[in-house]
Amino acid sequence: MFMINVRTLEINASYVCNLKCKQCANICWLGNKVATTAEVAKTVKAWSSRIRANHISVCGGEPLMNPDLLNILIEIRRGWSEFILVKTNGCFLNKLTEAEIEWMLKNNAKLWLAFKDTATYEANQDLLSQLPPKLFHTVKYPGHTNYKWYEAQQMEDGKLIQTNNNPQTAYEVCHAKKCVVIHDEKIYMCPKMFWLDYLKDQSYRLYPAIPGSHRTVQHSDEQLQQYLSKPSANCMICPEQLDWQPVVGDIPQLTPHELAKLSNAAYRQPSPQF
Ligand code: SF4
Ligand code: SF4
Repeated sequence: MFMINVRTLEINASYVCNLKCKQCANICWLGNKVATTAEVAKTVKAWSSRIRANHISVCGGEPLMNPDLLNILIEIRRGWSEFILVKTNGCFLNKLTEAEIEWMLKNNAKLWLAFKDTATYEANQDLLSQLPPKLFHTVKYPGHTNYKWYEAQQMEDGKLIQTNNNPQTAYEVCHAKKCVVIHDEKIYMCPKMFWLDYLKDQSYRLYPAIPGSHRTVQHSDEQLQQYLSKPSANCMICPEQLDWQPVVGDIPQLTPHELAKLSNAAYRQPSPQF
């Protein structure tokens, strides 16, 4: 059996976010929980002997909302020695624990930080100056810029706006195709395929069905390699053309229902200023 190599291997530490950015491929404002350590351990066990990556990306939702982040990072490190990037929106920097910071510094893991706007960046200035610079791989401000390529994938009346584009040309311009997601015994060619499948399992009805959205550990390496290296019919839901015109600072507000889910005591809570 040969080893599959990918550029970015994504593991979600959270299925919930305090923001609702237009460009988000994750549709995570519909999610309502964080990952458990046991769940991540199962994913690691299923895939660590099958797949290698340039780096492991710990994503969400917002991973820093998970109070068990440290144990999740430890589980991931049990399976892979590669560099770990924890991708965060910067609203929970003040919730990082000493143990998490120390572990990341000692274990080849860093934060990839994109503040949603300049105000959030400025509100975090003191904290940023107190944290060790080596903790950060990237600091972007404002990083949550909205792009029309993603806007075409947004929700309308609770459903995704569906495009009907050519899968091949959509895939060619796609920059999410190198972010392979693993979850439990499933593997997804991109975050969007994961989220559509995940939300389907959570009883959201965004699409009637997503045939071929993923493969599983039961597939051979050759089958997985093929799945990960070419467009699928599902790519028709993505736009064929990139339009990199940024619309800065236009982050839609969470609805009252979406805000209510953030009061779940199982999460780290956003600070009032964010
Ligand atoms: S902060 Fe990140 S995960 Fe949350 S909605 Fe924005 S892009 Fe998506
Ligand atoms: S469905 Fe295809 S084009 Fe769309 S994000 Fe995934 S890999 Fe890219």
